[in-house]
Amino acid sequence: MYAGFDLGGTALKFGVVDGAGKVRKEFQVSTPENVEKLLQLLEEIWGTLKNNLQQKIRSVGFGIPGIFCSKEQKILQSPNYPDLDNFALVPALSRFIDVPFCINNDANMAAYGEYRCGAGQNAHSLVLLTIGTGVGTGIILNGDIWEGACGFAGELGHAVVNPKGDPCKCGSRGCLETEVSAPKIVKNYQAYSKSQQNITAEEVSRRAKNNEKAARQAFADAGRYLGLGLALAINLLNPEKILLGGGVMNASEFLFPPAIDEAANRSFKGSFQCCSIERATLGNNAGFIGAALWARRRAQVHSISTG
Ligand SMILES: [Zn+2]
Repeated sequence: MYAGFDLGGTALKFGVVDGAGKVRKEFQVSTPENVEKLLQLLEEIWGTLKNNLQQKIRSVGFGIPGIFCSKEQKILQSPNYPDLDNFALVPALSRFIDVPFCINNDANMAAYGEYRCGAGQNAHSLVLLTIGTGVGTGIILNGDIWEGACGFAGELGHAVVNPKGDPCKCGSRGCLETEVSAPKIVKNYQAYSKSQQNITAEEVSRRAKNNEKAARQAFADAGRYLGLGLALAINLLNPEKILLGGGVMNASEFLFPPAIDEAANRSFKGSFQCCSIERATLGNNAGFIGAALWARRRAQVHSISTG
């Protein structure tokens, strides 16, 4: 058995999978407010998992929000969980995790989960975009996560698609994240409907389904910017698949057509035609499943290399 954890801004999702990624146990708890409480909780969960499973857990993977430096083995920056900034998570976890474990970015883990068990199974290359309150991206090339030189690759959410767009928390402006995520869809809706109603993107989606013009325009604008992001990925990587997940994709019927249209117009025809753009299928489970299977893979590679 293999355990995986996916730490989000509001929830900690975790579970146990078998070697094929089939979920045997899954749980969700609220994200603790600080690192001290998080570690306490992880220690408790680890003890409970070990004591209650008949089979041994062989490795553990952790998907964390933010930038994990693979060279220094520490989290450099976690915009959604700032308590982890510069925190040396590896030694802290080694105090109680007594099997091989590894840490990686949450979007990378979700991409690996989709690659192994979801819509991306056996794809030669894939890009996963998770569109919610932000945009997370993970890249799989030749069956491996593309981490870049130091572990920072796959930040397509911060590629600029609108130089005059809104400021982004990364310091730039008009990033894919600021143009297509849930808060922007609400903002678009407010502009088109000329109202300052404080509603959710989900509500905008309901209004779009009810044929409200402003709501449809809100998604159409976001969809076109999404298409620019897709075209970037297509021209740069010529991926076999691009998978789209996250809460905003529940309105895919309004987002997809303008996005596909824009992507087709802005990328090389041959590359666009051999890329299949689909919805991700594992939902919120992608992160912990991917983390569990990635840790398993890492532990196997390590045991082979050390004999
Ligand atoms: Zn940004």
